[in-house]
Amino acid sequence: MRNYTEITERLKHLDVPIELIGTAHGYPIHQIRLASSADTSRHILLTGGMHGDEPAGVEAVLQFLERDNTILLKKFSFLVIPCINPYGYVHDTRETRNGIDINRAFEADDIAEVAIIKKALAQTQFSLAIDFHEDYDATGFYLYEGKRDGKYIGPDLATAAKAIAPIDPDDPGEDAPDLAEGVYKVATSWGTQGLTPYLLHFHSEHVIISETPTVWKLQQRVALHLTILDAALNTLSEKDV
Ligand SMILES: [Zn+2]
Repeated sequence: MRNYTEITERLKHLDVPIELIGTAHGYPIHQIRLASSADTSRHILLTGGMHGDEPAGVEAVLQFLERDNTILLKKFSFLVIPCINPYGYVHDTRETRNGIDINRAFEADDIAEVAIIKKALAQTQFSLAIDFHEDYDATGFYLYEGKRDGKYIGPDLATAAKAIAPIDPDDPGEDAPDLAEGVYKVATSWGTQGLTPYLLHFHSEHVIISETPTVWKLQQRVALHLTILDAALNTLSEKDV
């Protein structure tokens, strides 16, 4: 059993208020909003802990919140949901207490975690949403990308991340066309049952799923996730708002 209280304690030590957005199976789900110092900011969504047995995503989001993001906040505002599936996190299971894979349930109306996330998203439109995951079979990192305008940056992100760790040599086998080595397209065949395709359809012009191999040490997985995040935000900030 993992300690979810440690997560909420770390959140409470942040300089910004944490907001309770709902409770699922007895566990609170929180969001943190980091306001931009600019009027013309673009909204970024960061999520972790969709699959409870993938703790590196939760840790990556926490370490993002705990670091100094002053420079980024000159251009971006953030909505951060550190742990979508606290029951799974505590019990080290992919699914919820009811055996539901939340990442295949976004077309359902009766899943507590899904309802909480949808309510938190409200009518917000994001410039980018990144969801952090892990892969038990992989030996290197890879990512999925969806972008409404088709101008993919994933190949550049993979190149940047390759400087610190290897790309997974195997196709993840999710029926996703590849865009480059280690970069796969969020496929339209997925529908909107997963968070990222749901976001791409309704809330975000650009989505990324970052996948790290569980076999790596936790801090290496976290470092990879944050490298993908920073490389993506760098690319976005170079473009005109
Ligand atoms: Zn996952």
